[in-house]
Amino acid sequence: MFLRRDAVEVWSNTELDERLIKYQQIFKKRILPRYILAKNFKVKFDVNNSITELLELHNEKSEGFRLFVSQNQEKTPEEFYSSKENNQIETSGQNYLRLKVELLKKMIKNCEFCENKCHVDRTKGELGRCKVNDKAYVASAFTHLGEESPIVPSGTIFFYGCTMKCVFCQNYDISQEYSLNSFRGRETSPYGLSLIISDMVKQKVRNINFVGGEPTPNLHIILEAMELSTEIIPMLWNSNMYLSEKAMKIIVDIFDIWLPDMKYGNNKCAEKYSKVQNYWPTLKRNMKMIESLGSGEYIIRHLVMPNHLECCSFPILEWVKENLKTSLVNIMGQYRPMYKVGIGKYDEINRRPVSVEMRQVKDYADNLGLRWRSVS
Ligand code: SF4
Repeated sequence: MFLRRDAVEVWSNTELDERLIKYQQIFKKRILPRYILAKNFKVKFDVNNSITELLELHNEKSEGFRLFVSQNQEKTPEEFYSSKENNQIETSGQNYLRLKVELLKKMIKNCEFCENKCHVDRTKGELGRCKVNDKAYVASAFTHLGEESPIVPSGTIFFYGCTMKCVFCQNYDISQEYSLNSFRGRETSPYGLSLIISDMVKQKVRNINFVGGEPTPNLHIILEAMELSTEIIPMLWNSNMYLSEKAMKIIVDIFDIWLPDMKYGNNKCAEKYSKVQNYWPTLKRNMKMIESLGSGEYIIRHLVMPNHLECCSFPILEWVKENLKTSLVNIMGQYRPMYKVGIGKYDEINRRPVSVEMRQVKDYADNLGLRWRSVS
Protein backbone atom coordinates (compact mmCIF):
# COMPACT_ATOMS: atom_id res chain seq x y z
CA MET A 1 0.00 0.00 0.00
CA PHE A 2 1.10 3.57 -0.73
CA LEU A 3 1.92 5.28 2.56
CA ARG A 4 2.31 8.97 3.28
CA ARG A 5 5.97 9.71 3.89
CA ASP A 6 5.26 11.24 7.31
CA ALA A 7 3.33 8.09 8.31
CA VAL A 8 6.59 6.15 7.97
CA GLU A 9 9.01 8.78 9.27
CA VAL A 10 6.93 9.59 12.33
CA TRP A 11 8.14 6.41 14.06
CA SER A 12 11.71 7.67 14.16
CA ASN A 13 10.43 10.36 16.51
CA THR A 14 11.13 9.32 20.14
CA GLU A 15 8.14 11.39 21.24
CA LEU A 16 5.87 8.82 19.58
CA ASP A 17 7.85 5.84 20.82
CA GLU A 18 7.40 7.06 24.36
CA ARG A 19 3.68 7.71 24.07
CA LEU A 20 2.26 5.11 21.69
CA ILE A 21 4.39 2.11 22.63
CA LYS A 22 1.71 -0.56 22.92
CA TYR A 23 -0.25 0.71 19.95
CA GLN A 24 2.83 0.36 17.78
CA GLN A 25 3.58 -3.13 19.06
CA ILE A 26 0.03 -4.28 18.41
CA PHE A 27 -0.12 -3.11 14.80
CA LYS A 28 3.25 -4.85 14.27
CA LYS A 29 1.52 -7.95 15.72
CA ARG A 30 4.12 -8.35 18.47
CA ILE A 31 1.55 -8.26 21.27
CA LEU A 32 -2.19 -8.81 21.58
CA PRO A 33 -4.85 -6.09 21.57
CA ARG A 34 -6.86 -5.57 24.73
CA TYR A 35 -10.11 -6.96 23.36
CA ILE A 36 -8.48 -10.36 22.81
CA LEU A 37 -7.08 -10.31 26.33
CA ALA A 38 -10.60 -9.47 27.58
CA LYS A 39 -11.98 -12.53 25.79
CA ASN A 40 -9.38 -14.61 27.60
CA PHE A 41 -10.15 -13.19 31.02
CA LYS A 42 -12.68 -15.55 32.48
CA VAL A 43 -15.60 -14.04 34.40
CA LYS A 44 -18.63 -16.02 35.53
CA PHE A 45 -21.95 -14.22 35.72
CA ASP A 46 -25.68 -14.79 35.61
CA VAL A 47 -27.29 -13.07 32.59
CA ASN A 48 -30.52 -12.84 34.58
CA ASN A 49 -28.92 -10.62 37.18
CA SER A 50 -29.95 -6.98 37.29
CA ILE A 51 -27.93 -4.32 35.57
CA THR A 52 -26.83 -3.00 38.97
CA GLU A 53 -25.53 -6.43 39.98
CA LEU A 54 -23.72 -6.92 36.67
CA LEU A 55 -22.22 -3.44 36.86
CA GLU A 56 -20.97 -4.15 40.36
CA LEU A 57 -19.42 -7.41 39.18
CA HIS A 58 -17.86 -5.66 36.19
CA ASN A 59 -16.34 -2.92 38.30
CA GLU A 60 -15.06 -5.49 40.78
CA LYS A 61 -13.41 -7.51 37.98
CA SER A 62 -11.93 -4.50 36.22
CA GLU A 63 -9.03 -4.32 38.65
CA GLY A 64 -8.26 -8.00 38.04
CA PHE A 65 -8.35 -7.37 34.32
CA ARG A 66 -5.87 -4.50 34.63
CA LEU A 67 -3.52 -6.89 36.41
CA PHE A 68 -4.13 -9.56 33.74
CA VAL A 69 -3.28 -6.98 31.05
CA SER A 70 -0.08 -5.93 32.80
CA GLN A 71 0.95 -9.60 33.17
CA ASN A 72 0.22 -10.52 29.57
CA GLN A 73 0.58 -7.50 27.35
CA GLU A 74 4.35 -7.91 27.06
CA LYS A 75 3.90 -11.45 25.71
CA THR A 76 3.92 -12.25 22.02
CA PRO A 77 0.74 -13.94 20.76
CA GLU A 78 2.68 -17.23 20.60
CA GLU A 79 3.90 -16.86 24.19
CA PHE A 80 0.43 -15.96 25.39
CA TYR A 81 -1.35 -18.87 23.76
CA SER A 82 1.35 -21.41 24.63
CA SER A 83 1.38 -20.57 28.32
CA LYS A 84 -0.28 -23.36 30.26
CA GLU A 85 -2.72 -21.23 32.21
CA ASN A 86 -4.01 -19.38 29.14
CA ASN A 87 -4.42 -22.64 27.22
CA GLN A 88 -6.83 -23.82 29.86
CA ILE A 89 -9.06 -20.82 29.57
CA GLU A 90 -12.40 -21.44 27.92
CA THR A 91 -12.86 -18.47 25.60
CA SER A 92 -16.10 -19.41 23.93
CA GLY A 93 -18.12 -19.10 27.13
CA GLN A 94 -18.33 -16.33 29.66
CA ASN A 95 -15.57 -13.82 29.85
CA TYR A 96 -14.93 -10.16 30.57
CA LEU A 97 -15.84 -8.99 27.06
CA ARG A 98 -19.09 -11.01 27.09
CA LEU A 99 -20.00 -9.43 30.41
CA LYS A 100 -19.56 -5.98 28.83
CA VAL A 101 -21.78 -6.93 25.88
CA GLU A 102 -24.49 -8.25 28.21
CA LEU A 103 -24.33 -5.05 30.23
CA LEU A 104 -24.65 -2.85 27.15
CA LYS A 105 -27.60 -4.91 25.89
CA LYS A 106 -29.36 -4.28 29.16
CA MET A 107 -28.41 -0.62 29.27
CA ILE A 108 -29.87 0.04 25.83
CA LYS A 109 -33.35 -0.67 27.22
CA ASN A 110 -33.02 2.42 29.40
CA CYS A 111 -30.29 4.09 27.42
CA GLU A 112 -27.60 6.07 29.11
CA PHE A 113 -24.67 5.34 26.86
CA CYS A 114 -23.93 9.04 26.79
CA GLU A 115 -24.33 11.98 29.11
CA ASN A 116 -27.66 12.92 27.47
CA LYS A 117 -29.08 10.00 29.49
CA CYS A 118 -32.29 9.83 27.45
CA HIS A 119 -33.50 6.69 29.30
CA VAL A 120 -35.41 5.45 26.26
CA ASP A 121 -35.88 1.78 25.38
CA ARG A 122 -34.10 1.59 22.05
CA THR A 123 -35.04 -2.07 21.63
CA LYS A 124 -38.67 -0.92 21.29
CA GLY A 125 -37.82 1.63 18.65
CA GLU A 126 -37.82 4.57 21.05
CA LEU A 127 -35.34 7.20 19.96
CA GLY A 128 -33.19 9.45 22.10
CA ARG A 129 -31.23 12.51 21.05
CA CYS A 130 -28.90 10.47 18.80
CA LYS A 131 -31.93 9.18 16.85
CA VAL A 132 -30.41 5.71 16.58
CA ASN A 133 -32.50 2.67 17.49
CA ASP A 134 -30.93 -0.56 18.74
CA LYS A 135 -29.28 -1.36 15.37
CA ALA A 136 -25.99 -0.03 14.01
CA TYR A 137 -25.93 1.76 10.68
CA VAL A 138 -22.62 2.07 8.87
CA ALA A 139 -22.46 5.07 6.54
CA SER A 140 -19.10 4.06 5.04
CA ALA A 141 -15.99 2.03 5.80
CA PHE A 142 -12.69 2.53 4.05
CA THR A 143 -8.93 2.83 4.44
CA HIS A 144 -8.42 6.41 5.57
CA LEU A 145 -5.12 8.03 4.58
CA GLY A 146 -5.89 11.49 5.92
CA GLU A 147 -5.71 10.98 9.70
CA GLU A 148 -2.75 11.83 11.96
CA SER A 149 0.53 10.32 10.76
CA PRO A 150 0.78 7.59 13.45
CA ILE A 151 -2.76 6.50 12.66
CA VAL A 152 -2.70 6.06 8.87
CA PRO A 153 -3.56 3.90 7.08
CA SER A 154 -6.63 3.61 9.27
CA GLY A 155 -9.52 1.17 8.81
CA THR A 156 -12.21 3.74 9.46
CA ILE A 157 -15.85 2.83 10.07
CA PHE A 158 -18.32 5.74 10.01
CA PHE A 159 -21.59 5.24 11.88
CA TYR A 160 -24.77 7.25 11.47
CA GLY A 161 -25.96 9.30 14.45
CA CYS A 162 -24.36 11.54 17.04
CA THR A 163 -24.82 12.39 20.69
CA MET A 164 -23.97 16.07 20.17
CA LYS A 165 -25.63 18.58 17.85
CA CYS A 166 -22.76 20.78 16.66
CA VAL A 167 -24.09 23.67 14.59
CA PHE A 168 -20.90 23.66 12.50
CA CYS A 169 -20.72 19.89 11.89
CA GLN A 170 -18.90 18.96 8.70
CA ASN A 171 -20.52 15.51 8.65
CA TYR A 172 -24.04 16.69 9.40
CA ASP A 173 -25.46 14.43 6.68
CA ILE A 174 -24.51 11.34 8.70
CA SER A 175 -24.54 12.84 12.21
CA GLN A 176 -27.79 14.83 12.28
CA GLU A 177 -29.67 15.24 9.00
CA TYR A 178 -31.03 11.77 8.45
CA SER A 179 -34.07 9.75 9.30
CA LEU A 180 -34.31 6.07 10.05
CA ASN A 181 -35.75 5.68 6.54
CA SER A 182 -32.43 6.78 5.06
CA PHE A 183 -30.78 3.98 7.06
CA ARG A 184 -32.57 1.28 5.07
CA GLY A 185 -30.08 -1.19 3.66
CA ARG A 186 -27.27 0.04 5.85
CA GLU A 187 -28.05 -1.92 9.00
CA THR A 188 -24.95 -3.80 10.11
CA SER A 189 -25.05 -6.77 12.44
CA PRO A 190 -22.19 -7.61 14.81
CA TYR A 191 -21.21 -10.38 12.38
CA GLY A 192 -21.33 -7.95 9.45
CA LEU A 193 -19.16 -5.53 11.38
CA SER A 194 -16.65 -8.28 12.20
CA LEU A 195 -16.43 -9.04 8.47
CA ILE A 196 -15.73 -5.35 7.76
CA ILE A 197 -12.96 -5.49 10.38
CA SER A 198 -11.41 -8.58 8.74
CA ASP A 199 -11.63 -6.95 5.34
CA MET A 200 -9.87 -3.83 6.63
CA VAL A 201 -7.10 -5.93 8.18
CA LYS A 202 -6.50 -7.57 4.80
CA GLN A 203 -5.88 -4.06 3.46
CA LYS A 204 -2.97 -3.71 5.94
CA VAL A 205 -4.45 -0.93 8.05
CA ARG A 206 -2.76 0.05 11.33
CA ASN A 207 -5.97 0.14 13.36
CA ILE A 208 -9.74 -0.21 13.31
CA ASN A 209 -11.10 3.29 13.81
CA PHE A 210 -14.69 3.58 15.11
CA VAL A 211 -16.08 7.03 14.33
CA GLY A 212 -19.19 8.80 13.03
CA GLY A 213 -21.22 10.83 13.53
CA GLU A 214 -20.33 9.31 16.84
CA PRO A 215 -19.69 5.64 17.65
CA THR A 216 -21.17 5.82 21.20
CA PRO A 217 -24.80 4.85 20.31
CA ASN A 218 -23.37 1.71 18.63
CA LEU A 219 -21.30 0.48 21.54
CA HIS A 220 -23.27 -2.74 22.03
CA ILE A 221 -22.80 -3.76 18.37
CA ILE A 222 -19.13 -2.74 18.26
CA LEU A 223 -18.19 -4.80 21.32
CA GLU A 224 -20.22 -7.77 20.07
CA ALA A 225 -18.35 -7.55 16.75
CA MET A 226 -15.10 -7.68 18.71
CA GLU A 227 -16.31 -10.89 20.33
CA LEU A 228 -16.57 -12.40 16.85
CA SER A 229 -13.23 -11.06 15.69
CA THR A 230 -9.79 -12.62 16.14
CA GLU A 231 -7.68 -10.02 14.34
CA ILE A 232 -4.50 -8.76 15.96
CA ILE A 233 -5.08 -5.09 15.34
CA PRO A 234 -5.37 -2.05 17.64
CA MET A 235 -8.94 -0.96 18.30
CA LEU A 236 -9.29 2.83 18.18
CA TRP A 237 -12.08 4.91 19.75
CA ASN A 238 -12.53 8.16 17.80
CA SER A 239 -15.13 10.15 19.70
CA ASN A 240 -16.50 13.36 21.15
CA MET A 241 -16.04 11.68 24.56
CA TYR A 242 -19.50 12.69 25.76
CA LEU A 243 -20.04 9.21 27.18
CA SER A 244 -21.76 8.56 30.51
CA GLU A 245 -19.61 7.38 33.37
CA LYS A 246 -21.22 3.92 33.24
CA ALA A 247 -20.49 3.50 29.53
CA MET A 248 -17.01 4.87 29.97
CA LYS A 249 -16.25 2.31 32.69
CA ILE A 250 -17.36 -0.46 30.34
CA ILE A 251 -15.22 0.56 27.39
CA VAL A 252 -12.23 2.24 29.01
CA ASP A 253 -10.09 -0.89 29.26
CA ILE A 254 -11.02 -2.36 25.87
CA PHE A 255 -9.62 0.15 23.39
CA ASP A 256 -5.91 0.29 22.64
CA ILE A 257 -5.75 3.83 21.36
CA TRP A 258 -8.02 6.86 21.52
CA LEU A 259 -8.67 9.92 19.37
CA PRO A 260 -10.66 12.08 21.79
CA ASP A 261 -12.05 15.46 20.74
CA MET A 262 -11.56 18.27 23.22
CA LYS A 263 -13.71 21.00 21.71
CA TYR A 264 -14.74 23.43 24.45
CA GLY A 265 -13.10 24.56 27.68
CA ASN A 266 -16.40 25.38 29.44
CA ASN A 267 -20.08 24.38 29.50
CA LYS A 268 -21.45 27.60 28.03
CA CYS A 269 -19.81 27.23 24.61
CA ALA A 270 -20.80 23.55 24.50
CA GLU A 271 -24.44 24.44 25.21
CA LYS A 272 -24.44 27.15 22.57
CA TYR A 273 -22.73 25.31 19.72
CA SER A 274 -23.29 21.60 20.47
CA LYS A 275 -26.54 21.73 22.48
CA VAL A 276 -25.26 19.55 25.32
CA GLN A 277 -25.24 20.03 29.08
CA ASN A 278 -22.44 19.44 31.56
CA TYR A 279 -19.82 19.06 28.79
CA TRP A 280 -16.65 20.25 30.48
CA PRO A 281 -16.85 18.12 33.69
CA THR A 282 -17.89 15.10 31.58
CA LEU A 283 -14.96 15.53 29.23
CA LYS A 284 -12.43 16.00 32.03
CA ARG A 285 -13.74 12.92 33.89
CA ASN A 286 -13.57 10.75 30.78
CA MET A 287 -10.11 11.94 29.79
CA LYS A 288 -8.79 11.15 33.25
CA MET A 289 -10.33 7.69 33.01
CA ILE A 290 -8.50 6.94 29.76
CA GLU A 291 -5.28 7.78 31.50
CA SER A 292 -5.84 6.07 34.85
CA LEU A 293 -7.94 3.03 33.86
CA GLY A 294 -7.29 2.59 30.14
CA SER A 295 -4.36 2.21 27.81
CA GLY A 296 -3.27 5.81 28.40
CA GLU A 297 -2.32 6.02 24.71
CA TYR A 298 -4.17 8.75 22.84
CA ILE A 299 -3.91 11.73 20.54
CA ILE A 300 -6.13 14.60 21.64
CA ARG A 301 -7.82 16.55 18.86
CA HIS A 302 -8.48 20.20 19.48
CA LEU A 303 -10.25 22.11 16.73
CA VAL A 304 -9.34 25.78 17.01
CA MET A 305 -12.45 27.93 16.57
CA PRO A 306 -12.40 31.63 15.70
CA ASN A 307 -12.85 33.93 18.71
CA HIS A 308 -12.63 30.95 21.10
CA LEU A 309 -9.05 31.05 22.26
CA GLU A 310 -9.54 32.55 25.72
CA CYS A 311 -12.66 30.53 26.57
CA CYS A 312 -11.78 27.20 24.93
CA SER A 313 -8.29 26.66 23.45
CA PHE A 314 -6.23 28.06 26.33
CA PRO A 315 -8.22 26.45 29.20
CA ILE A 316 -8.12 23.08 27.41
CA LEU A 317 -4.36 23.21 26.90
CA GLU A 318 -3.80 24.31 30.50
CA TRP A 319 -5.98 21.50 31.83
CA VAL A 320 -4.22 18.94 29.63
CA LYS A 321 -0.86 20.12 30.90
CA GLU A 322 -1.93 19.92 34.53
CA ASN A 323 -3.87 16.67 34.44
CA LEU A 324 -2.65 14.35 31.69
CA LYS A 325 0.78 12.81 31.54
CA THR A 326 1.14 11.22 28.17
CA SER A 327 -0.63 13.67 25.95
CA LEU A 328 -0.06 14.38 22.28
CA VAL A 329 -2.28 17.17 21.01
CA ASN A 330 -3.32 17.68 17.41
CA ILE A 331 -3.97 21.42 17.14
CA MET A 332 -6.36 21.48 14.20
CA GLY A 333 -6.89 24.43 11.89
CA GLN A 334 -9.56 22.81 9.71
CA TYR A 335 -12.53 24.65 11.21
CA ARG A 336 -14.70 26.31 8.60
CA PRO A 337 -18.24 27.66 8.79
CA MET A 338 -20.63 24.87 7.82
CA TYR A 339 -24.16 23.62 8.31
CA LYS A 340 -26.09 26.09 10.50
CA VAL A 341 -23.31 28.67 10.73
CA GLY A 342 -23.68 31.51 8.27
CA ILE A 343 -27.36 32.19 8.59
CA GLY A 344 -26.95 35.13 10.96
CA LYS A 345 -27.11 33.24 14.26
CA TYR A 346 -23.49 32.35 14.87
CA ASP A 347 -21.64 35.27 13.32
CA GLU A 348 -18.73 35.06 15.77
CA ILE A 349 -17.73 31.67 14.34
CA ASN A 350 -18.66 32.48 10.74
CA ARG A 351 -15.09 32.45 9.43
CA ARG A 352 -12.01 30.26 9.45
CA PRO A 353 -9.46 30.77 12.25
CA VAL A 354 -6.81 33.18 10.99
CA SER A 355 -3.10 32.37 11.03
CA VAL A 356 -2.51 34.69 14.01
CA GLU A 357 -5.02 32.69 16.06
CA MET A 358 -3.44 29.38 15.04
CA ARG A 359 0.01 30.76 15.92
CA GLN A 360 -1.24 31.94 19.32
CA VAL A 361 -2.62 28.52 20.20
CA LYS A 362 0.55 26.74 19.09
CA ASP A 363 2.73 29.22 21.02
CA TYR A 364 0.53 28.65 24.06
CA ALA A 365 1.04 24.89 23.74
CA ASP A 366 4.80 25.43 23.37
CA ASN A 367 4.94 27.61 26.47
CA LEU A 368 3.18 24.86 28.41
CA GLY A 369 5.62 22.28 27.04
CA LEU A 370 2.93 20.26 25.26
CA ARG A 371 3.78 17.94 22.36
CA TRP A 372 1.83 18.77 19.21
CA ARG A 373 4.21 19.02 16.25
CA SER A 374 4.43 15.32 15.42
CA VAL A 375 0.64 14.96 15.16
CA SER A 376 -0.63 18.34 13.96
S1 SF4 B 1 -26.79 7.05 23.07
FE1 SF4 B 1 -27.05 8.94 24.24
S2 SF4 B 1 -28.33 10.23 22.88
FE2 SF4 B 1 -28.56 8.12 22.16
S3 SF4 B 1 -30.38 7.34 23.24
FE3 SF4 B 1 -28.57 6.75 24.44
S4 SF4 B 1 -28.34 8.35 25.99
FE4 SF4 B 1 -29.67 9.17 24.34
